[in-house]
Amino acid sequence: MSDQPKIYPVPEEFAAKANLSPEKYKEMYEASIADPEAFWGEQGKRLDWIKPYTTVKDVSWETGDLHIRWYADGELNVTANCIDRHLATRGDKTAFIWIGDDPDECHKVSYKELHAAVCRFANVLKKLGVKKGDRVTIYMPMILEAAYAMLACARIGAVHSVVFGGFSPEALAGRITDCDSGVLITADEGVRGGRKVPLKVNADKAADLSNGTLKTMLVVKRTGADINMVEGRDHWLHEAAEDVSSDCPPEPMNAEDPLFILYTSGSTGKPKGVMHTTGGYLVWASMTHEYVFDLKEDDVYWCSADVGWVTGHSYIVYGPLANGTTTVMFEGIPTYPDASRFWQECDKHGVSIFYTAPTAIRSLMREGEDPVNATSRKSIRLLGTVGEPINPEAWEWYFHVVGDARCPIVDTWWQTETGATMMVPLPGTTDLKPGAASHPFFGIKPVLVDADGTELPGATEGNLLITDSWPGQMRTVYGDHQRFVDTYFTAYPGNYFTGDGCRRDEDGFYWITGRVDDVINVSGHRMGTAEVESALVSHDAVAEAAVVGYPHDIKGQGIYAYVTLVQGVEPDEALRKNLVQHVRAEIGPIASPDLIQFSPGLPKTRSGKIMRRILRKIAENEFANLGDTSTLAEPEVVDDLIENRQNKG
Ligand code: ATP
Ligand code: MG
Repeated sequence: MSDQPKIYPVPEEFAAKANLSPEKYKEMYEASIADPEAFWGEQGKRLDWIKPYTTVKDVSWETGDLHIRWYADGELNVTANCIDRHLATRGDKTAFIWIGDDPDECHKVSYKELHAAVCRFANVLKKLGVKKGDRVTIYMPMILEAAYAMLACARIGAVHSVVFGGFSPEALAGRITDCDSGVLITADEGVRGGRKVPLKVNADKAADLSNGTLKTMLVVKRTGADINMVEGRDHWLHEAAEDVSSDCPPEPMNAEDPLFILYTSGSTGKPKGVMHTTGGYLVWASMTHEYVFDLKEDDVYWCSADVGWVTGHSYIVYGPLANGTTTVMFEGIPTYPDASRFWQECDKHGVSIFYTAPTAIRSLMREGEDPVNATSRKSIRLLGTVGEPINPEAWEWYFHVVGDARCPIVDTWWQTETGATMMVPLPGTTDLKPGAASHPFFGIKPVLVDADGTELPGATEGNLLITDSWPGQMRTVYGDHQRFVDTYFTAYPGNYFTGDGCRRDEDGFYWITGRVDDVINVSGHRMGTAEVESALVSHDAVAEAAVVGYPHDIKGQGIYAYVTLVQGVEPDEALRKNLVQHVRAEIGPIASPDLIQFSPGLPKTRSGKIMRRILRKIAENEFANLGDTSTLAEPEVVDDLIENRQNKG
């Protein structure tokens, strides 16, 4: 088996100033599990309530009567908490630093300015007839108006559904009709990596495809491109905002009124319209943001996600603003104009906390260390990752090359469904093990079970369940409560089933091994995809790898590996053999790939996750039935994969 993973103690300089200590974590965690009512009753006070709650938790996970309610009789407004309450003490503090795709473009917005912008935007929505409870779709590039739009909805009690700006007209239309959204907010064009994205053109097509659902479009001018405006349906934001007031009182909302709907990435199937509500979600987003990022008042915090997925909701907009943080919003991509971009911007703005995805780290690793070493990065004190298990190779690179071994890495495991972070090595509280999501956040009790639901004690591996509710848990699949019940609460009654596999090591650290659906069974040995992929990526020639099972006459399932090589390495038979040897040495003969396909790219979701279900279909020779591919970032890569499939037959 592979060597014991490395263990890094908390860097001393960091530990000296950390908000939490191992003892404090233990004490708070135990309190949160022993008496959730008391713990969450207290945590709810981090928000300003218009009408204080008198009940805390009202939850049943019984499939016949499934309901999840937190602070259910309280009233509040999310934007009053994210903006208004900071005005007295932080009015001139920078709320957003917006960094354009073009390195020369940058803009700062204070909390005061944010207040005015959001109020004006909210008044425009009112003028267009948007009412409390209406669903508003937001299809935007990463410009400030995307955040203003979300907050403007929250201000007046409309429910936003943000659709990533890279999605096709079909994917957009599907989401518009699924939640019956009559209003779309978009821009003329987006700009990413020096290229224009035709958002309005796509939006027009989506409107046609929505069978009359879409009645109103509000358009933000980003590039000034010549676009088609439909009389009576389409409105320019800057025109509509000309005569509106910069004051708009926050709508009092019940804690359980919906705040947003967000469709999952679609890695495993048709995206689910995950619905989050107002009070519990904001308590959870704000609390996790504070503790996960060891937050200090003067931090400059940068989460490089897109607002089109949940990380952007909880950790660019709602969590940071609820905490009065200076939060960065980045329009571009990590490799434009070159692979130094992230670190140059960190130097320029004094970024102290940087949070990104393993896929971004791997893409930068491919370019070598020089682009990183050309920058200082002295302001950074904490690094984070989210989205997929981070393979130890990428972790080590992030830790040593980017963070100069000074900065802890918070590997945050969570899901659109969970609202915010569920497991994480909280900074200052634990040693770091590269690739481990490590320990549960406050209030979260993870359990590992076998396929029959029998709890597995001690060091073990199994399906990951959560045994009790937390305030930021999704409340339903929009318009399909039964799908909510079936997907998460039916396989293991009384528990929330995450769909992820997980290992607990002898020190009690948790390691996400990948999705349960992706587990490979070779000659009776169950293997998570993450482990085999990590072994492949630890080879010098490999940039990225994805592993799936395929039917194998003798073993039941064989291991099919898709491998992307680092820049400049040519694939050949010798390398193929070498990689097989390498995996044998790292994990053992049982994990040897049977087939290796070299591929220039892998199919990924728009949020950068590898879509193994498509790779599985290709490996199984079932190209005709690839399932929902609407969330693929680059559908072209699939053709190449099919063409160069190994062992054709
Ligand atoms: P769908 O549910 O539509 O298939 P998805 O699961 O990719 O899509 P998300 O909610 O964006 O949609 O992703 C959550 C999943 O991402 C988790 O269930 C887990 O598999 C993976 N994940 C996220 N963060 C981590 C992490 N730090 N370590 C390991 N896995 C992670
Ligand atoms: Mg999922």
